[in-house]
Amino acid sequence: MLTIVMYHYVRDLERSRFPRIKGLSLEAFRGQLDYLQRRHTVVTMEEVMFAVEGSPADLPDDAALLTFDDGFIDHYTNVLPLLDERGWQGSFFVPTRPLLEKKVLDTHKLHFILAAQPNTHAVFDEMLDLIDEYRERYDLLSADEYWERLAQPSRFDPPEIVFIKRMLQTELPEPVRAAICDRLFSRYVTRDEEAFAAELYVSVDQLRIMQRLGMHIGVHGETHSRLDRLGPECRQREIRSSLELLGRIGADTEAWSIAYPFGAHDEALRRQVRSAGAKIGLTTEVARADLWRHDPLQLPRLDTNDVPKQFSSARVPVMVGGAAA
Ligand SMILES: [Zn+2]
Repeated sequence: MLTIVMYHYVRDLERSRFPRIKGLSLEAFRGQLDYLQRRHTVVTMEEVMFAVEGSPADLPDDAALLTFDDGFIDHYTNVLPLLDERGWQGSFFVPTRPLLEKKVLDTHKLHFILAAQPNTHAVFDEMLDLIDEYRERYDLLSADEYWERLAQPSRFDPPEIVFIKRMLQTELPEPVRAAICDRLFSRYVTRDEEAFAAELYVSVDQLRIMQRLGMHIGVHGETHSRLDRLGPECRQREIRSSLELLGRIGADTEAWSIAYPFGAHDEALRRQVRSAGAKIGLTTEVARADLWRHDPLQLPRLDTNDVPKQFSSARVPVMVGGAAA
């Protein structure tokens, strides 16, 4: 079994400007690294690729792969030194637009809107008011119909937050989502998106340093859109943008890995990335990966919250739908 752990924000939350952001504290991250050191053997992406091409038996039984999504500056300032100290590799999946164009992705705008405004009802009501403005032009459903369809509690969020996230991450038409995220972001977070992006994301130079220090850099698209919902040409553009960035920092563009944005993929997408050189594809399905059984282009991962955060913790089975995974 291969335990692939997924991380996003890893920061000193309490001393940050947005302590309410949903992320992992540095202290918990250190504790989790201690736990992983005790219970697992941390392997590299290259070792996983090798095992997939050859035999899964080449990996140790307790193998773990550490993956970090979205290209946050946290990964350079906080994660890189701690991994380097242990001689471990992390795999970093970086969307290209934030780095190259200094734009904050809508999905991240939303995180900071929710962190900046503790009153979720206010954001909720304001979002619905804004949707009213676009309803006619984009032929949108009523608020009740959307609520009916989307409001279910998730593993980590209550229904109201899930509803806001789904509406603004995937449900509304792209121009409407972008406009509403923009307006809420400039109201609650900042009007200077470019400066915010420069502080939030790694730069190309920092990525190059990470790559030189032995970290693995992988594909996460250009705009962080659900690739399964794009046409083949748009997908191609997203993948090409990522591979160009890998080329610029000296990473391998012949044999590479992808973490699908939002974990979303379908057969056509897998075929497309395979023919472009993808060897490993990571989803957000929650389970340990079994290289004997799983398609290497749809490997499941555990969220950091599924893994103990203390050296002394007992090894816990991951429960998915009531069954240990
Ligand atoms: Zn992502």
